[in-house]
Amino acid sequence: MKKVILLRYGEIHLKGHNRGFFERLLFKNIKEKLSKIDCKIGRISGRYLVWGFDQSNENTIIQKLQQVFGLVSVSSAFEISAEQEEVQIALLEYFNKLEMENGLVGKTFKIEVKRADKKFPIKSDEYAAILGETVLKKYPNLKVKLKKPDLTVYVEIRENGKAYIHSDKTFSVGGMPVGSSGKGLLMLSGGIDSPVAGYMMAKRGLSIDAIHFHSFPYTSIQAKEKVISLAEVLTQYIGDVKIYLIPFTRIQELIHANCDDSYMITIMRRIMLRIAEKVCELNGIKTIITGESLGQVASQTIESITVTNSVLKKIPVMRPLIGMDKSEITEISKKINTFDISILPYEDCCTVFLPKNPVIKPTIEKAENEESFLDIDTLVDAAVEAMEIIEIKA
Ligand code: ATP
Ligand code: MG
Repeated sequence: MKKVILLRYGEIHLKGHNRGFFERLLFKNIKEKLSKIDCKIGRISGRYLVWGFDQSNENTIIQKLQQVFGLVSVSSAFEISAEQEEVQIALLEYFNKLEMENGLVGKTFKIEVKRADKKFPIKSDEYAAILGETVLKKYPNLKVKLKKPDLTVYVEIRENGKAYIHSDKTFSVGGMPVGSSGKGLLMLSGGIDSPVAGYMMAKRGLSIDAIHFHSFPYTSIQAKEKVISLAEVLTQYIGDVKIYLIPFTRIQELIHANCDDSYMITIMRRIMLRIAEKVCELNGIKTIITGESLGQVASQTIESITVTNSVLKKIPVMRPLIGMDKSEITEISKKINTFDISILPYEDCCTVFLPKNPVIKPTIEKAENEESFLDIDTLVDAAVEAMEIIEIKA
């Protein structure tokens, strides 16, 4: 019996003529994810397979695969020829292994057969009954139970003339292969929300570049390092990430000196979005992603979002957290391991020059009027010109 890991993907996304594209991309993402582990990776119809690894690496491989968007579940399995006699021998060997590992006395079981190969001459239920008999002959103390047995052993007959025996499924993250939806520009602060927003959009198939605005020397080097650490964690799910670091100090000083204090954050956000749009256009990026959640703070009311969003000409903004509570967002950030970094103390550029009373219901007219004291186009161009790019490898 050949030891393999069987990988399943969400076939719903893969119907129609896009199927080949998704399958190739997912295969490439799996290969990149496992590139540092000695193993072989292959495709059969409807599944991927990993084999040829050292047994001590199996858990690591399964853990890594659980971070690959597009995979639905993985199973540790054995591959054999689909010839009935060979399946019967292997099944007994498999039960022998289960007996050695966990003991089988008094257990109930069922065999479930899945025929991906519809040309296979015996129907699934019939075949399951035959195989069940084979097991009972060798293990008369076991009992067949079709509903909620202690143990379900699956036999999958695939089109490649092979059968796969397994009894466990580890669920993966699901979603769509990273890159299948194009690329998004994540506005990444050092907070809890924005890394989660990036994770969620990567799950829907976006590959991610990040943009971060810093107010050095008002904000420290640690604030920048924190953003890099967050991006490093995100690479586990989304692969390589480029960070565009934008110096924002001069712009903030000018807003502070020239504009109504209560509009400070509104104008800052409008300029951040203009810069983000420019970076998107220069790099062929299709959308901007933020960690905004409706009503969370003054800058995230419908009126604030309307006034900031209105500066964008071509690029849409995706706000995957818009309907989520902070507690729900926090739960995801803990699950994806960004939380502990996000809560480290740091100063965000938005906390520098923080107004006492930020406007809750800004208007576009007033924002435009306040901005008339600034040479916005020149400021945007200068910020993009001065940006630093850091590439983080997965
Ligand atoms: P987060 O936890 O992501 O910092 P937040 O609740 O602190 O979010 P805000 O500070 O209002 O909310 O920021 C809203 C969104 O604007 C952030 O989720 C992020 O996408 C973007 N943003 C804020 N500050 C920055 C920054 N310095 N650089 C890049 N994007 C930023
Ligand atoms: Mg923030």
